[in-house]
Amino acid sequence: MSYCASRFATIRRRTVAVQVGAVGVGGTHPVRIQSMTTSDTQDVAATVKQSIALAEVGCEIVRITAPNVAAAKCLKDIRAQFTTAGFGHIPLVADIHFLPSAAMEAVEHVEKVRVNPGNYADKKKFAVKEYTDADYEQELQRLHDSFSPLVKRAKELGRAMRIGTNHGSLSDRIMNRYGDTPLGMVESALEFLRIARSHNYHAIMLSMKSSNPKVMIQAYRLLVERMAREDMHYPLHLGVTEAGDGEDGRIKSAIGIGSLLLDGLGDTIRVSLTEDSVYEIPVAQAIAAKAMSLWSEGRARPLGAPSQSDGPAVRPYPETDSIDPYHFTRREPAALQLSAHCLVGPEQPPRVIVRIGSVAQLPEAATALAAPKLKDTPAEGLLVPISGPGDLATLCEIAAKTTLPVQFLALELAPALTPDVLQPLLALTKGRLMLVRKFGPAETGTFAAFADLVHRHGQFLAAEIAPGDIPAYAATLKQAGDTGLVFTLSALSGTQASHAIGAYRELVENLQLAGSNAPIWIRNTAGTAVRGDNSFLSKLLEASFLTGSLLCDGLGDFISIETETDVTRATKLAYNVLQGAGARISKTEFVACPSCGRTLFDLQTTTQRIRAQTGHLKGVKLAIMGCIVNGPGEMADADFGYVGGAPGKINLYVGKNCVQYNIPQAEADARLIALIREHGKWADPEPHQLSPV
Ligand code: SF4
Repeated sequence: MSYCASRFATIRRRTVAVQVGAVGVGGTHPVRIQSMTTSDTQDVAATVKQSIALAEVGCEIVRITAPNVAAAKCLKDIRAQFTTAGFGHIPLVADIHFLPSAAMEAVEHVEKVRVNPGNYADKKKFAVKEYTDADYEQELQRLHDSFSPLVKRAKELGRAMRIGTNHGSLSDRIMNRYGDTPLGMVESALEFLRIARSHNYHAIMLSMKSSNPKVMIQAYRLLVERMAREDMHYPLHLGVTEAGDGEDGRIKSAIGIGSLLLDGLGDTIRVSLTEDSVYEIPVAQAIAAKAMSLWSEGRARPLGAPSQSDGPAVRPYPETDSIDPYHFTRREPAALQLSAHCLVGPEQPPRVIVRIGSVAQLPEAATALAAPKLKDTPAEGLLVPISGPGDLATLCEIAAKTTLPVQFLALELAPALTPDVLQPLLALTKGRLMLVRKFGPAETGTFAAFADLVHRHGQFLAAEIAPGDIPAYAATLKQAGDTGLVFTLSALSGTQASHAIGAYRELVENLQLAGSNAPIWIRNTAGTAVRGDNSFLSKLLEASFLTGSLLCDGLGDFISIETETDVTRATKLAYNVLQGAGARISKTEFVACPSCGRTLFDLQTTTQRIRAQTGHLKGVKLAIMGCIVNGPGEMADADFGYVGGAPGKINLYVGKNCVQYNIPQAEADARLIALIREHGKWADPEPHQLSPV
């Protein structure tokens, strides 16, 4: 049983359709875009205003927090006024944590209710307790008794429901048996799902959110696999929770949501940003549009199967896929020493390469890459296109009088350049050169000549060979060995052009079959992009989809984002994608909730202010959460937490432990920094790390 039809093409998972008011989710419906209001729910006018603002920019489902019965009662007026304003077709969703009584009130007024299995019937105490099987059964019975009334009422009223599990807010019962793991998240949801099904209630969708895209991807995959085993096909609501703001928030969301959508999973999405909710909508729309452009209905059939069989001809899952999609393990590449300071190997972070458009741009690129703002995020390789001997001569001339602030030069060679022409250059430079060349299906001899050339001169070869051609190269690859070799893809065609992730997966599988463990270079080029849109957001999303997805599967030893031509932005974007995927940490990791009606301080300005003071702390994870009701549970594995305790008051956490209560907000930044210092994780910023508050 697998979680998707093929890991080599985007084939939409078949789900039942669930009606949320007038909006259908799953089945053959498009990916639905949703978001959440941040106003106090009891401020009806403000909540209606925010709901209208969201609907006007394309939000198709609006969620509103219902933290207590009083707030849940307000949903009646909010629904009525929203309808009167002309938005009767947009469903409202009540977001419930902790209080079944609030859920019972909310279900009367809105089209859908979201419950969190971690806290619907359980108070979280972070208690360590051994549960016997009898204790566990008793707990499940208690759960059944608490949840059943809501299920029955939702069924009577024709309401939908989301069983929304969050990593970091699992019940003590689940934590003690399964830990804070994707499996624990899935089991938590299945407990609720089984109760709903026992009442023959099926208007359900599910979510498995985490602030860590890797955890979130594994949890959704596992959920689908587990549901499929029991012949359950409910739609999925996708989201990366507490993703933060700006570029980082968008990247994290795109990695998690995009990776799943490109495997055909996901029916409605929310991009959670610590920004005004309306800014979430264009990002979500762009992600959904890219994925939907790739959907193909039907089922995968093996390559070569008769064309009259169902579905498109793609390699089905899993065939030779060696990756465990439910647990992260990094592929162990053969070691490569590109310079004294640049190693590639199992213990090394993925290396960053930037590309320039021509040899003439070399001096300008050298200056930009040497700037202090890239001191902590240096590009390690510089990729230069070489179209003929003239370019080689110019390169030598410029390189002789320019200090290149990189560890190696990668030369993207035109096909006409032969080993003979390159030999003098390679002999001259003594290491630090990577030749990059595309080899066609009948070029095994040329490949062998290039491999021999780089071996003799202690240089490197990045070979682009179409995944389907690798078997024809098997004997040559065996003879060449992995020393000095890297494999990559830049221009793709056919099915692979629409699923670059699948093409890289296939490349890795075929290399493994051919006995090669050479490192993989993930190149984001126009040829690997899903569709032509030249905006920076589009480039960011494409890079996050391709690079982030592969990194979360443990693949990738070099990355380059060549769709961005500004070398400074390309370098920063590469590091931000690496950080988002948890593959290379170059700055503080922020987990910030998107805010909602419970939020006790201005999350956006607070997040920006704290980021300006602490953003240089490489490897530290800081959570900024709007309330103590959900904040501590949902900040998962943060090192320190800044959490709204009461109006104007902040609680500070070390891990899951609250160490300072109700500090006046004016003092909280300084006390947080003192706490980080006390725990030995503070470093004073260097001048280039100071950013304006
Ligand atoms: S942590 Fe943030 S988003 Fe979550 S309930 Fe509290 S204020 Fe709302």
